[in-house]
Amino acid sequence: MGDLTHTVARHKKTFTVGWLYPDLMNIYGDRGNILTLLKRAEWRGYDARLFELGRGTTKKMDEVDVFFFGGGQDREQALVYQDLLEHKQPPLERAVAAGAVVLAVCGGYQLLGHYYQTAEGERFPGIGLIDVRTEAGKRRFIGDVVVDTDIVGLKPTTLVGFENHSGRTFLGPKAKPIGRVRLGFGNNGTDGTEGCLQGGVVGTYLHGSLLPKNPHLADYLMRSALRRRGVDELSRLDDSVELSAHERILERAQRRPPSRALQEQRPRSSATAEKPGPS
Ligand code: GLN
Repeated sequence: MGDLTHTVARHKKTFTVGWLYPDLMNIYGDRGNILTLLKRAEWRGYDARLFELGRGTTKKMDEVDVFFFGGGQDREQALVYQDLLEHKQPPLERAVAAGAVVLAVCGGYQLLGHYYQTAEGERFPGIGLIDVRTEAGKRRFIGDVVVDTDIVGLKPTTLVGFENHSGRTFLGPKAKPIGRVRLGFGNNGTDGTEGCLQGGVVGTYLHGSLLPKNPHLADYLMRSALRRRGVDELSRLDDSVELSAHERILERAQRRPPSRALQEQRPRSSATAEKPGPS
């Protein structure tokens, strides 16, 4: 009996982040997402734990609340995709089915889909946890990104970050975008969508890192993961610093011409056709 109460008590107040391939899939400040999740849990009195899940290890993946899968160049993706298929896929699918949540950025996002094909035509099979496929193009999509998000209850309704990818991702019927790009290229630079939301998985091209400037998304991930333990609300935190950083990116974006995808969707008016704004 003692063990059970101890387990329940410990379980009740712990918050566990599982970091997939921290040594290989971690670029453009992705580590900041880990720090944000752990800190926001600690500030709310949780015993915040981090499990590093490199190649080969799958220890205690059933105890993880939020998995993070960062970005990586084609070389790093080539080094992890087999381990993902052979070792991580089954426990990850079980954990997500049991209510755990996944945040995957860029290269990680691509490998959770059906496949990632490099610009040279080499194809890395993904685990198909989300209904997306990615094929790289010759031109890299680089720069600030502003997304108007469709995620219910997210306030502010914008997400900001930085993208740098050659992959063009296309969503299948089971996946829906996390929003539409106001600035930047997003999933593929043509359909105006960004990211993917499917079950407990959030995929995105937003590096930067993402969560420090989007604390509302961090809380969305935490609330979603803790719901299975009867946690509906999280105590409020003072996010004034985080949100002013968010605002700065939005202001900067206002001074930029809208995303190419948006431009192509807008009826061409003679004025804009002639002289697009300075970059
Ligand atoms: N190698 C992938 C691409 O170029 C992912 C890059 C990244 O994670 N930033 O699209």
